[in-house]
Amino acid sequence: MSSFKIFFVLCAVLLAACSGGDRGNETARPDDSRPVIVATTTIVADIARNVAGGRMRVVSIMKTGEDPHIYDPRPGDARLIAGADVVLTNGLHLEGTLQGIVRNNLREGAVFRELAEDERIEVIESVQYQGAPDPHCWFSIPYVKVYARNATEALCDADPPNADYYRANARSYLARLDSLDSYARGVFAMIPEKNRILVTAHDAFHYFGIEYGIEVMTVIGISTDSEPRPLDLENLVNLIKRNNVPAVFIETSVSASLNNLVRKVSEKTGALIGGTLYSDSLGEPDGDSGTFLGMFRHNVDTIAGALGKGGA
Ligand SMILES: [Zn+2]
Repeated sequence: MSSFKIFFVLCAVLLAACSGGDRGNETARPDDSRPVIVATTTIVADIARNVAGGRMRVVSIMKTGEDPHIYDPRPGDARLIAGADVVLTNGLHLEGTLQGIVRNNLREGAVFRELAEDERIEVIESVQYQGAPDPHCWFSIPYVKVYARNATEALCDADPPNADYYRANARSYLARLDSLDSYARGVFAMIPEKNRILVTAHDAFHYFGIEYGIEVMTVIGISTDSEPRPLDLENLVNLIKRNNVPAVFIETSVSASLNNLVRKVSEKTGALIGGTLYSDSLGEPDGDSGTFLGMFRHNVDTIAGALGKGGA
């Protein structure tokens, strides 16, 4: 093959790599006329990406590992929103610092949808902050299916000629979510009931606990910007000792000081650090936890692996 031909083959491969990626933010090509979805969190972006299937360009405002509760908006966020054909958020006050920026910059005709704001989702109250909703509904797969359905409607509204394509993508994504849901139920059914206690850094896993029959306790309440009260920690330590909880878990998208509190609880109680969970952000785009399906499975395997060792 001549070097000229090799050059063109390389260009084609590079182009395919740029356009075919289904993870991470896609850079706009000069000739890219696809509609743009701007999502607030990496989780919302991934759900959108699965439905869009490459016919829309998906951009996540928050990057891997960023904490949505205390997200500090960047100067370019308003411009991103203003250029979007579809804006998707979680809602339920998760993106408190972005709410105003979204509402003030949506362009006329853009489709805006808060995926968790839906009557099919039974919103629970924050354990720590009475009266505030708990926004972490993505840890119930039946609720993620509601997210996916809402995202699908939004994409169909924004781009009606491709509606059948988006609906077909959604059907196959919903089927994959169903399989993961069955997997999680099967795995937790094997864990002795007395070991099904999940202790983590912040209050992200209450929907998870309700859905999969696990009691959830945290070193802090719902918003990661507040300090835990010493009495709460003392209660938690006593509870862990009383129940012989085998492991506690740190999280990727919370502050080091919160994870250090979990480590302190581990030292005081003898419970092991069972692993690192993804709570409010996906993992690195090119890793196993770079998709919602991957990160959820990672969490299930990590939790079950550690709690299952606790002896029946
Ligand atoms: Zn959270």
